[in-house]
Amino acid sequence: MSDIEREFSPLEHSYMQIALACAEYGARQGEVPVGAVLVYQGRVIATGFNQPILAKDATAHAEVVAIRQACHYFDNYRLPMGCELYVTLEPCTMCLGALIHSRISRLVFATTEPRAGMLVSQQNFAEATFYNHFLQVEYGLLAEESATMLKRFFRERRQAGKVAKQPQLTGDNS
Ligand SMILES: [Zn+2]
Repeated sequence: MSDIEREFSPLEHSYMQIALACAEYGARQGEVPVGAVLVYQGRVIATGFNQPILAKDATAHAEVVAIRQACHYFDNYRLPMGCELYVTLEPCTMCLGALIHSRISRLVFATTEPRAGMLVSQQNFAEATFYNHFLQVEYGLLAEESATMLKRFFRERRQAGKVAKQPQLTGDNS
């Protein structure tokens, strides 16, 4: 893993575009926009969007949703060697654990998560030697697109919060 921005292939771009579309789908339903795409031998095996509110499930992050789907697909609790996960945001503690337990070979994420990211922001767990699995990590692919989507989501939510309070104030006055 390195900070040097490397060239990602058009195919890698298209995988991350799908992940961004998943994130956008979630945003339209009020979920924080994070999307994930699981690729095996060049084929999209599973997708996921962040959905803890909809699923009433604290563990329903995009990565976990995609990994669960892929495990069903392969009918195995561990994924075959060579599975890649494209995620629009740097994974949290839980998702990094899921990536390791499921034996994902390679992770590509778009933008960093400065508050709780476990790979470059707060920790560098991918290079921790206590795991018995090596996870290749690259990031920065369509980072700006993902960061913009997240910023827009939180801005709109703040504005919606203000608007929602407005009628109540009017009601109190009448
Ligand atoms: Zn997570």
